[in-house]
Amino acid sequence: MRRPALFMDRDGTLSHEVGYVNHVSRFRLYCWSVDAVRLINRSEFLAVVVTNQAGVARGYFPESVIDDVHASMNHSMQAGGARLDAVYFCPHHPSVGEPPYRLDCDCRKPKPGLLKRAEAELGADLSRSWVIGDRLGDLKLAWAVGARGALVKSGYGLGEWEHHASRLGRAPDLVAEHLLEAVERILNGAEAPA
Ligand SMILES: [Mg+2]
Ligand SMILES: [Zn+2]
Repeated sequence: MRRPALFMDRDGTLSHEVGYVNHVSRFRLYCWSVDAVRLINRSEFLAVVVTNQAGVARGYFPESVIDDVHASMNHSMQAGGARLDAVYFCPHHPSVGEPPYRLDCDCRKPKPGLLKRAEAELGADLSRSWVIGDRLGDLKLAWAVGARGALVKSGYGLGEWEHHASRLGRAPDLVAEHLLEAVERILNGAEAPA
């Protein structure tokens, strides 16, 4: 039986948006993130992080920094009784940097490569999944695979919502103050007419 997933953006959604996280010391989860993931773990949904980290392609930091950050994130989750089923990232940029990171890949959001990977590796049912993020690109990512998109107002979200939402041509399936509210509303099913 395939399970739906809650795909979560990282910076601005799970963690404070601080610009490029070029050292693990700059990474700070929001205070509600462990609670949000623990709630997902108690539901039928997979908890999956999907993040663009083009700072690697740009030469701002080595890929090992991403490993450090994700080890730290997983440790914090574990300490709070929460678990991420997978953490997927795109280190590429289509036009900046050097190969192999300079690449017109299929995994840089809003391209659907990271979600397709979850479909293949975790058996995620994309049609019943959600993407939660603070950028319009996260919504486009959701809609590209027939999933639903939730915009959070943390990180870039408030600005995206107030200044750019008209660019979407379609209303977000859910708008929430932050990740925990989005997860609660999705799991309560109020936003899921299916
Ligand atoms: Mg973000
Ligand atoms: Zn990529």
